[in-house]
Amino acid sequence: MKRDEAWLQQVLDKIWDNYFTDVPQENDVRMVFGRRAKRRLGSIGLDPNDRHTSIITINSIFKSPEIPEFVIEATIVHELTHYAHGFNSPLAQAQAHPHAGGVMRREFAERGLLELYSQQKRWLKANWHEVLAREFPPRARNARPAAVKMKIPKPFWYIGD
Ligand SMILES: [Zn+2]
Repeated sequence: MKRDEAWLQQVLDKIWDNYFTDVPQENDVRMVFGRRAKRRLGSIGLDPNDRHTSIITINSIFKSPEIPEFVIEATIVHELTHYAHGFNSPLAQAQAHPHAGGVMRREFAERGLLELYSQQKRWLKANWHEVLAREFPPRARNARPAAVKMKIPKPFWYIGD
């Protein structure tokens, strides 16, 4: 299936229906693909044009079929956990900081998703570096080498300028 925003929305719905049934959906939650990013896999924010809508943004590198679905699922679980904890959502805020003291791992564990959590971690550790090397290749060399700037010292007997 093509990985577009409708697909992302389906994955979110599936996760919500299966693992987050205790979390009420108090507003619209939209799924979008953002820019290709090296470090940020996903994020949750409020729609700047409609502060009542939450937007979960997913790294566009994840459109590539080479990225396993469980990596995307774990990312969505992570963002949905922020939603459940009241970060950029209408729900009551559960703690001061979104990633306070192992809160994310605990949430995955309590929802029976610890294996998903570990799977994502393992996969990223083994593969992310290579994905980034492919996604952000080093700049091609210029056909013409950059001019070498070399200072030619004036001979000591040179007089004048
Ligand atoms: Zn987070």
